[in-house]
Amino acid sequence: MKKLGKYSFGTGDRFGRQGKAQLQAIMDAGSLGIELIPVWNKSHREHTTIGTTPADTRREADEAVRALGWNNPYFVDADHINLSNVEGFLPHCDFFTMDVASAIGKPVTPEEAEAFVADNATPGGVIHLPGMDRPVPADEKYLRRFAKQYLHAINEAEKIYDHISRHRNAEEIVIEVSMDEVDQPQSPADLYFILKLLAEKNIPVQTIAPRFSGRFNKGVDYVGDLKKFEEEFEQDLIVLSHARAGFGLPDSLKLSIHSGSDKFSIYPVMGRLIRKYEQGIHVKTAGTTWLEELIGLALAGGTATEMVKHIYAEALKRREELTAPYAEVIDINTRSLPTAAEFASYNEQKIAASLRHDPENPQFNPHLRQLMHVAYKIAAEMGDDYLRMLDTQEEIISRQVRENLIERHIKRLFAQS
Ligand SMILES: [Zn+2]
Repeated sequence: MKKLGKYSFGTGDRFGRQGKAQLQAIMDAGSLGIELIPVWNKSHREHTTIGTTPADTRREADEAVRALGWNNPYFVDADHINLSNVEGFLPHCDFFTMDVASAIGKPVTPEEAEAFVADNATPGGVIHLPGMDRPVPADEKYLRRFAKQYLHAINEAEKIYDHISRHRNAEEIVIEVSMDEVDQPQSPADLYFILKLLAEKNIPVQTIAPRFSGRFNKGVDYVGDLKKFEEEFEQDLIVLSHARAGFGLPDSLKLSIHSGSDKFSIYPVMGRLIRKYEQGIHVKTAGTTWLEELIGLALAGGTATEMVKHIYAEALKRREELTAPYAEVIDINTRSLPTAAEFASYNEQKIAASLRHDPENPQFNPHLRQLMHVAYKIAAEMGDDYLRMLDTQEEIISRQVRENLIERHIKRLFAQS
């Protein structure tokens, strides 16, 4: 098993042009004393929409590393894969995010469910974990419900892992298990039993991405009860401490946060708690870099700004098609979207300000930002026209990409205040 390192940062890049700017932000962090391992993550869904392959992501990562002389480890993540699409990722990735969300709630045999309940029954129907102010519920009723909900998903994780490890040396890869893209959050008790079962199946999970309470909408801040999130996150960290020692999972095991881009209000909460418990963390960002490309283009003026206006006009027309695959993680109030004509009348600065995730700025429009977050398909359809524009405006774009990651993401989460 290749160890991931304590703090790692996943940077998605829809069009594969910002690898260097992203790595530059990781190096900026290093010069502030924040040691991060970069991971380039891209899902099958993104590859399909854009027409890229995992080999492209590998090339981007290798080139950025070579160009900037990065000497520490780095990874390429097959993000949200399952048995139906892992094949193309196998030769190019060394980080596999096994997504078992769609297997949650699927039945197992009554014998298997009952065996789980019998194996895990405890005297008082609870489990005491050191550091937890409340015991973890584990009575029969809870265990039956858990079995119904999660046993099939754990079996699925085992199948995917077996497949990956037949093709890849387990010593050279990192394994993540994700179940974040579901509507029901996993409680700390659920996480406890999920990790226990993954350990029993000998899956060397290093990062686990649960679904937390609250909404993780694409491109905008966390929506939910911050106090509740904090409590849940802290309990999850305690569960993880136990899972490393008690279940024999890798000592590098940590939480993976799929941020859906920018979850600024929970960053300081998570940062404080991982430092308190001396735990690591993996954070994935994806679409945030694509939005910085748009901001860079908007600021560049001329035909670059026109291109952003065109993308917005198309996105408005095709709103339903573009938002459909993201229905669970998007919340757009259409009355708050400017018309195409209104948007076209904005100057460069106003377009940038309406897109840039700065809640303090009165021109920031989270509805517009969410729509543009999922509008990368339109840029993909423009093909070389879009890619050439990225190359022409490389300087102004890479400045946005780098500054966004270091200032708005990395410092908020990792810098001690
Ligand atoms: Zn995710």
